Amino acid sequence: MQVFAQISLKPFNSFGIDVCAQLFAEAYDDSDVHEAISYAVIHALPLFIIGGGSNLLLTQDIHALVLRMATQGIRVLQDDSVHVVIEAEAGEAWHPFVLWTLDHGLYGLENLSLIPGTVGAAPMQNIGAYGVEIKDVFAGLTALDCQTGELRDFSLQECQFAYRDSLLKHDIGRWLVLRVRFMLSRISNKKLDYGSLQQCLVKQGITEATPIDISRAICSIRRETLPDPVKLGNAGSFFKNPLVSEVLAAELKCQYPDLVTHQQPDGQIKLAAGWLIDKSGWKGFRDGDAGVYKMQALVLVNYGAATGRDIVSLAKRIQSDIAKRFKVHLEMEPTIIEP
Ligand SMILES: Cc1cc2nc3c(=O)[nH]c(=O)nc-3n(C[C@H](O)[C@H](O)[C@H](O)COP(=O)(O)OP(=O)(O)OC[C@H]3O[C@@H](n4cnc5c(N)ncnc54)[C@H](O)[C@@H]3O)c2cc1C
Repeated sequence: MQVFAQISLKPFNSFGIDVCAQLFAEAYDDSDVHEAISYAVIHALPLFIIGGGSNLLLTQDIHALVLRMATQGIRVLQDDSVHVVIEAEAGEAWHPFVLWTLDHGLYGLENLSLIPGTVGAAPMQNIGAYGVEIKDVFAGLTALDCQTGELRDFSLQECQFAYRDSLLKHDIGRWLVLRVRFMLSRISNKKLDYGSLQQCLVKQGITEATPIDISRAICSIRRETLPDPVKLGNAGSFFKNPLVSEVLAAELKCQYPDLVTHQQPDGQIKLAAGWLIDKSGWKGFRDGDAGVYKMQALVLVNYGAATGRDIVSLAKRIQSDIAKRFKVHLEMEPTIIEP
């Protein structure tokens, strides 16, 4: 394993923020991971794990050994001819992995097509899109406890998945995810009732959509509505959709009849953060090189030379404006590395 000093992380985060890693290495297998942990201990530095850097906001140089997970490998663990358990290494790129499953006639991940990042980071925030979250097909993961060096398998229950959340996200840096298992099916269980998916399929003249059709339709919607990080730095949705009480939702609905609400099984109401930000006039706002994407108010963007602090400062202005107008707290979604 090669270790580099003072490496710019600009190519390794989708916001394109230019900060330096004190030390930087890439892990191609488990022995690289163990070597990196020992190296960090010897140099008295913390280990900071990254995948594709698509859910990160870096606001300062990282005084750590930054380890990019680049481990590869996909294997079938169980196959009862309908249900198939697949295991993928943490460094596998997410979207190519989804395509691999579809190519092999295995269904369950199609709605999660074109999400950037890696397999290993997917459980961190229980990635979700178009009515599906990875918890719906999750069959376990193996992680290394960076504090003790022990391996541990996590079941679905142990991960405590919730909306863009998991046990692992609350203890960033402790658990290094090595590989993740998914329970997929040869029989498709289509989920089409989300956003403009059904409309998009109808527009394409597709009445009986296959999982591959669904994946393609989602890719085309995402390409139209989300900025490509290669052209415009961003980390996807910057804020989570807030959960509020029924009382507050009803109060807001009186004031704003077009308020977007989704009833939750536990009685809470989920509001669309993008709607709140848009309604407050932030869509398309730009301050220097930090801005709110003009097509989607939920996405903050770096027009080129914004620093992580510029983005955080814009995010905080939006948070306090939304709190004032709607009495709603917006929680930031990416991992923010703040001083
Ligand atoms: C254009 C765009 C669209 C997006 N759309 C969606 C979407 O629809 N749904 C959604 O849920 N997310 C979305 N995201 C966010 C992001 O793609 C996901 O959260 C993705 O899973 C992050 O993967 P990553 O490998 O880039 O993680 P990174 O950004 O590298 O890391 C994220 C966090 O996980 C930790 N981490 C990474 N790998 C490991 C590992 N192997 N072990 C332990 N910790 C690890 C890091 O320390 C960090 O705290 C989007 C992002 C972009 C840029």
